[in-house]
Amino acid sequence: MHEDTKELMSSPQIMKIYKFPEPVLREQAEPVEGIDDELQKLIDDMGETMYSAPGIGLAANQVGEPLQLLIYDLTPRDQGRNLCVLMNPEIVSAEGEIIYDEACLSVIDFSAEVKRHAMVKVRGFDRHGKPVDIEAEGLMAVCLQHEIDHLNGKLFIDHISSLKRALYKRRLQKMLKKEKD
Ligand SMILES: [Zn+2]
Repeated sequence: MHEDTKELMSSPQIMKIYKFPEPVLREQAEPVEGIDDELQKLIDDMGETMYSAPGIGLAANQVGEPLQLLIYDLTPRDQGRNLCVLMNPEIVSAEGEIIYDEACLSVIDFSAEVKRHAMVKVRGFDRHGKPVDIEAEGLMAVCLQHEIDHLNGKLFIDHISSLKRALYKRRLQKMLKKEKD
């Protein structure tokens, strides 16, 4: 096999993003127990997937891997990339309230205002297993809460009124039916 072929195969791949109502999005993610090449590859592939979407955050459930692993990058796109990785995250404290219009790569064609904590402290591990403590506010606090929700099988649409959710589900069913026809 030509050298270039190998190089191409080891470069990050764009993964399939699972969409609501696929069941993997409702799974409780398992803790990451060991760090190996396979995990690093998953992180790189998730990064590629998030940037190409484009998105600012992605949880492992969303690519069909129910592992407690999330990535995010809130750097403005014209300032390059700074991929942040968080494994086995835990919200250790939260305060205040903030409302953001949220959207999700796994919830097609929908956004809604969601009320969350304005400030959170999150503890976890980076991609090398080093403990990290993060104090976040504003969009970063929203992003971390949204992604940690994913790891608990929760979606932002679980935070909106049941009426709004029902209307979205109905619209989604129509959209999916149209795709099939
Ligand atoms: Zn999401």
